[in-house]
Amino acid sequence: MATSGPRHILQVVVTSCCRHGSVRMCSHSNTSTLCAVCKTTPQALLFSDHHRAFQHKSTWELLRALLILRACGSNFLVDNSLKILRKGQQIFGDQILGLFLHPTVYSQFVAGEESSDLAVTAKSLQKMEIRLMVAPTLEEDVGESSLRQDKYDKNLNEMFRLAEMTHCHGGVHPCLQTKITALVSADTLRNLSHIYVKKKADSWRVMVQHMASAMLNRVQLPDIPGINHRDIENMSIALGRFRQLGEVAATKNLCLLVDAEYSYVNPGCSLVALAMMAVFNQNRPVVANTYQCYFKGALETLTLELDVIESLGACFAAKLVRGAYLERERELDTTNICASYAETGDNYHRVLEHALMHAKKAGSDRCLVIIATHNEETVRHSASRLLELGLDPKAGHVVFAQIYGMAEQITMPLVHAGYLVYKSVPMGTLSQVLPYLARRAAENRSVLHGARKERELLQQELSRRLRSMFQR
Ligand SMILES: Cc1cc2nc3c(=O)[nH]c(=O)nc-3n(C[C@H](O)[C@H](O)[C@H](O)COP(=O)(O)OP(=O)(O)OC[C@H]3O[C@@H](n4cnc5c(N)ncnc54)[C@H](O)[C@@H]3O)c2cc1C
Repeated sequence: MATSGPRHILQVVVTSCCRHGSVRMCSHSNTSTLCAVCKTTPQALLFSDHHRAFQHKSTWELLRALLILRACGSNFLVDNSLKILRKGQQIFGDQILGLFLHPTVYSQFVAGEESSDLAVTAKSLQKMEIRLMVAPTLEEDVGESSLRQDKYDKNLNEMFRLAEMTHCHGGVHPCLQTKITALVSADTLRNLSHIYVKKKADSWRVMVQHMASAMLNRVQLPDIPGINHRDIENMSIALGRFRQLGEVAATKNLCLLVDAEYSYVNPGCSLVALAMMAVFNQNRPVVANTYQCYFKGALETLTLELDVIESLGACFAAKLVRGAYLERERELDTTNICASYAETGDNYHRVLEHALMHAKKAGSDRCLVIIATHNEETVRHSASRLLELGLDPKAGHVVFAQIYGMAEQITMPLVHAGYLVYKSVPMGTLSQVLPYLARRAAENRSVLHGARKERELLQQELSRRLRSMFQR
């Protein structure tokens, strides 16, 4: 088998050829051609090869992952995970709680706190040709805002520290995620979101221009009807932080990914993300926004934001996700949310299609689409669409991403098939990562097909290793 780039391409085709599973029959060197023999696309990327998926994991790591997935089978534990973690923190304190959590859940999902921790994780990812996406775990919710700015200044310094680490250990084109609520009061964002929740392209474009100009020229935002003076001041100060963060990302060659949060702050977060795109994405995609496809209006949101960014002459960049805050969003307003898991999947594919069409039109230097999912069907569908649209999976403008500690059975086949894949690696102290860990518990509920399959594959790989130990 060939050893460089084309080797990967061969594998895409081999896995796709259900009828001709041999390399020779299916060999060709062009990603955009179908298999010469059976004319299939990579629809059958194999996601059940447990040996290959977990070959880089120790047996203890597999056992730990399996135990955690089993615990996520308990609805009681998952529904109350954050409460249980917070109570444990109150009763035992971080140190004692850490004795239990550090070797288990924390190590499964979090790389650590220090540069040396990230170095170890980054090295092991690079060995497998997986790219690095660092995920800070700084965030706040409405009602937790600080009247003083020093909380957000401190968070900015932490973002600089993480940007430096990402730059040092990141390898090729590393990404750094960020939450807007880490750098400006969530209450201010909610108030701004109230005004901008109804999406009208013209008013959005004007507001994005005001923000971009305030960011660039270091001046206060003009008055906005319905927004009080304190919020204008908070946002004006925060735009200075976003400018500094954008400058660091641009100079350190990082891509800064703005995470999507709760619906009541998201329009405010998007305005900031778009203003940053307008400022920093003139020549290449430095800043990206995130689109949550469990919202019925996700396509409308992406289309509007893409139009605004194109009209400002900047490069558009998007991370596409299903959305991590389903339960809470349902409590707030069920009418905005897709009625079922299948509907969210269909919505994701519609949004993806629009983003891919733009990627094709804009070209590899002026666009970035991150397909951030653990969903097999979506990954297969995306791989097929890339091939059908003639989008080169190695060009770097359409990439995949999964979360550290999850979905190895998706990540490894994608890497072996020659796609560019990132792992989102969280960094933070135990107390910072508790909400993040609670969200991962919800995503690993055994009712979801992905979690069930991962559990089965872990079991199969552990059994295989046990058998081979006894056969020796
Ligand atoms: C790299 C990366 C970055 C991410 N960044 C963000 C981010 O910025 N913001 C964010 O919110 N999330 C983010 N996520 C998490 C993401 O939104 C999902 O929660 C997670 O990836 C699980 O979805 P999935 O596509 O992997 O597929 P699956 O595991 O197949 O789908 C699970 C998802 O489907 C949806 N769903 C489940 N049941 C139903 C139902 N009954 N009705 C409607 N929808 C349902 C929910 O969104 C749920 O999370 C990120 C994920 C990755 C991999």
